[in-house]
Amino acid sequence: MTKVPEIFADMVFNDDVMRDKLPKDVYKSLHKTIEQGKELDVTVANIVANAMKDWAVEKGATHFTHWFQPMTGVTAEKHDSFITPTANGRIIMDFSADNLIKGEPDASSFPSGGLRATFEARGYTAWDPTSYAFIKDGSLCIPTVFCSYSGEALDKKTPLLRSMEAINKQALRVLKLFGNTDVKHVYTTVGPEQEYFLIDKKLYEKRKDLMYCGRTLFGAKPPKGQELEDHYFGAIKPRIAAYMKDLDEQLWKLGILAKTKHNEVAPAQHELAPIFSTTNTATDHNQLTMEMMQKVAAKHGMVCLLHEKPFAGINGSGKHNNWSISTDTGTNLLEPGTSPYDNAQFLLFLCAVIKAVDEYQDLLRITVATPGNDHRLGANEAPPAIVSIFLGDELTNILNSIAEGIAYTNDRKTMMEIGIHVLPHFPKDTTDRNRTSPFAFTGNKFEFRMLGSSQSIADPNITLNTIVAEELAQFADILEKADDFKNALASLIKTTINNHKRIIFNGDGYSDEWRKEAEKRGLLNLKTTVDAMPYFIKEKNIRLFTKHKIFTETEIRSRYEISLENYSKVINIEALTMLDMAKKEILPAVGNYTGKIAKGIIAKTSISQDICVEMEKSTLIKISSLCDNMYKITGKLDKALIEAKDISDALDCAKYYKDTVIPLMQELRCVSDRLETNVACDIWPIPTYGDLLFKI
Ligand code: ADP
Ligand code: MG
Repeated sequence: MTKVPEIFADMVFNDDVMRDKLPKDVYKSLHKTIEQGKELDVTVANIVANAMKDWAVEKGATHFTHWFQPMTGVTAEKHDSFITPTANGRIIMDFSADNLIKGEPDASSFPSGGLRATFEARGYTAWDPTSYAFIKDGSLCIPTVFCSYSGEALDKKTPLLRSMEAINKQALRVLKLFGNTDVKHVYTTVGPEQEYFLIDKKLYEKRKDLMYCGRTLFGAKPPKGQELEDHYFGAIKPRIAAYMKDLDEQLWKLGILAKTKHNEVAPAQHELAPIFSTTNTATDHNQLTMEMMQKVAAKHGMVCLLHEKPFAGINGSGKHNNWSISTDTGTNLLEPGTSPYDNAQFLLFLCAVIKAVDEYQDLLRITVATPGNDHRLGANEAPPAIVSIFLGDELTNILNSIAEGIAYTNDRKTMMEIGIHVLPHFPKDTTDRNRTSPFAFTGNKFEFRMLGSSQSIADPNITLNTIVAEELAQFADILEKADDFKNALASLIKTTINNHKRIIFNGDGYSDEWRKEAEKRGLLNLKTTVDAMPYFIKEKNIRLFTKHKIFTETEIRSRYEISLENYSKVINIEALTMLDMAKKEILPAVGNYTGKIAKGIIAKTSISQDICVEMEKSTLIKISSLCDNMYKITGKLDKALIEAKDISDALDCAKYYKDTVIPLMQELRCVSDRLETNVACDIWPIPTYGDLLFKI
């Protein structure tokens, strides 16, 4: 039996280890750096580096790596061993402050969206002491940021840290107005719930689409899908249970608070949720979790699919980003308070979120815009592409009564007055019922549900932190100048609700009526990545990000290019994979089959013209015509991909893939799936949906 407390964070150079391994003054000075972002002096860094190395070597590590999060959305590492030759031809294990603090990976191997052309190709990684170092596969991993030499961010962590600083700064201004001067630091917290599929490795390896694209590009519906809804609360199969146990242990060793695990709605689909932590730790941990999910699956003869839509017609996978704001004194600022004054503060923070989500719907939509997630958003299983907020009836009634200045008629029949009345408590079960909302208040936090399962949570949180920081800044600007704080506050809350209540929607987000209603309210409905991305470079958004020093305009434009280029590349790979499978696997297999049927007809009728071959003949006609059709579509798709090469503008190119290539891919799939249902199962060259989903 593993003892969880003993293995927990065993592989992490965390605060306990630091306290244990570092001289007192060094520990204190490092702590100052971590807490206040103070610069670390070199002698201190040398001692820290040495202690880190000794600790890592003791745990069997031989290498170290700067661990960073480039714009690919996955993590990157470049390993160096600790060994350093000595004069007498031997080696010592060495690791200096230099190694700890700075690294120089070749920036040209990572997407930079044009930054490479404008700036130097070299990039550097710099230690982020706010995130603990850890050991993974025999390497000491040092979490770092990744920048170009001229200081432009080339990663997702730099803007995330900047956004945390922005919201800290603005929230402190607001808290000060409420007299909360003991608070020194405000940070956001995140608990990301992660969905995934597990399938058998042997079957996976027989499907090029899964291997190259992470999702199936062909596949007829099996007779049984998820309609009986027997998977969610079904017992976890022994093989899956063994996987989950192993995964938990690996995650715990890395200090990741893996907490809940269960089956999901679709067959072979599961979920893992951690206990929440500060946003930058949660982001690191979610990246590590996704990596471990895949590694541990391989050990168990399985493959973990993190793609948003591995199977058509079956629920896709998402990620729920539970987000809140906390103080270093332990207050959750999105928790309704127990006194009228606390409540006024809660309402103001709530208003900041409401206004932020309304004014920056486009940006939130963009943070979850990927070709994979395009399959989910708006489908009947995931939140719609329209951004709205669910608050629950009770809280909505309270806000309405404040806005209209009328009695709040629930059971209490009181007129809500800011700073005078205590809000009722909102238990989770009254606020969490709506699963169709993209952005739901769940009692003391918001749950942003539009994220795709494979994406880094950095982008959504960079944006969330920044847009809320902006609204808090505007509120602070007004309130700091006010002569009568209470009156100014009341009118600010009232105006904000009135101006932004269109974003609040408590009904069924999947319904058609909502789509119409949202349009009437003037809310955006950006259906695909290609529709959403142009909003990223709108002037108001550039103004927002540059004002809070999250991105420079150049950084924004480079990220815009990268996102669109990535879109086109992904679709191109998918289309090529389809062509490959169609031409080399499906059509030849079905061709053989029709040949066999034809021979059978000749053989039978040569014995006697009286033998009935109606079944063979009509099957042959049907399959041959489908094959013919499939062959023609491959020709069209081939041609379309060649034409795509001539489009140089990133947006035009992505549009072309969306409007021309994707429809052809759909056509190709449609014929192939019809073929699949009309031929003998032993001739179908790739594992079917039934095999993939139920043979695990
Ligand atoms: P459940 O969904 O299991 O009923 P919760 O709503 O408490 O339970 O948790 C869902 C997710 O939200 C978990 O990952 C949890 O850690 C996270 N969470 C809870 N409180 C916060 C918070 N203040 N900030 C961020 N995430 C939170
Ligand atoms: Mg959830």
